[in-house]
Amino acid sequence: MTRVAIIAMGGTIAMSPSAGGGVVPALSAEDVLAAVPGLAELGLDITAHTLRSLPSPSLGFADLVALSDAVRAEIAAGAAGVVVTHGTDTIEETALFLDLTVDSPVPVVVTGAMRHPTSAGADGPANLYAAIRVAVAESARGLGCLVVMSDEVHGARFVRKGHTSSMAAFASPGFGPLGLLVEGEPRLRGTPRVGLRLPANPRVADLRVGLITVALGDDGELLRRAGDAFAGIVIAGLGAGHVPADMVPLVAGFAAKVPVVLASRTGSGSVLRQTYGYPGSERDLLDRGLIHAGFLDPAKARVLLQLLLADGADRPRIASTFDLYR
Ligand code: ASP
Repeated sequence: MTRVAIIAMGGTIAMSPSAGGGVVPALSAEDVLAAVPGLAELGLDITAHTLRSLPSPSLGFADLVALSDAVRAEIAAGAAGVVVTHGTDTIEETALFLDLTVDSPVPVVVTGAMRHPTSAGADGPANLYAAIRVAVAESARGLGCLVVMSDEVHGARFVRKGHTSSMAAFASPGFGPLGLLVEGEPRLRGTPRVGLRLPANPRVADLRVGLITVALGDDGELLRRAGDAFAGIVIAGLGAGHVPADMVPLVAGFAAKVPVVLASRTGSGSVLRQTYGYPGSERDLLDRGLIHAGFLDPAKARVLLQLLLADGADRPRIASTFDLYR
């Protein structure tokens, strides 16, 4: 019998009302699974394991290392597919982490819910059902880690949560989903992926990589005060990768000391390389030693930089790895 392993991390999909008001993680992987109709008809051997019961803003890199280890253990034990249930707030970071650290063609699918189980029209059961269908689909093999929400299948590299509450919160800006489910059946077209693999080194949890978002009129005070605390920095720049002219000496100074990656706060598209020539433009910053994030958004660039630093990568290796995401 084909085996699918469910690993629960918490999130809205596993939340219940609390005595103090509001919903909190409470349900086990078995509880979440029990609410999904139609599973018996699939004829699968589905195992469920609760690894964490946390809201996803409280997950850290040590949890992701434990999750990656658990996913690889399930694959080694013969799972044909692995489904991770997870809070939606940070699903996109966890998906990229798993994509980079699980070296196997076995589908790893992350899903969650925008509406908690006791709300009208809760989406958790439908999302988990769809995720299980994708996890055992032949067409999903070799596509790396996937995120399945609202009957859409997204690649880990592009997926983003783009709405606070809509059930259609997830999108892959600029590229679109890799596929969708039709009458419960996955229809995947796939896209070439970056074949990069990195170890889930526990050191990743001891490293601090800063994510600094730049804003209009920004004089860099946040970076000035906090920058020295970081082993690497991601700048979520304006537009195509820009900062105010006044910030340039500060940013360049940090780039001389630690890897500083230039991403865009827009959340879609690639940082440019050779269009703008003013002080603080992408050309200026790249000339001053910043590393181009390519199509990786700031949160994903931070995950990659953190894993590379944990693997002992030097600046040239970091730059050539980010080049894979052009
Ligand atoms: N705040 C929740 C979390 O990320 C949201 C969700 O799961 O949808 O855990």
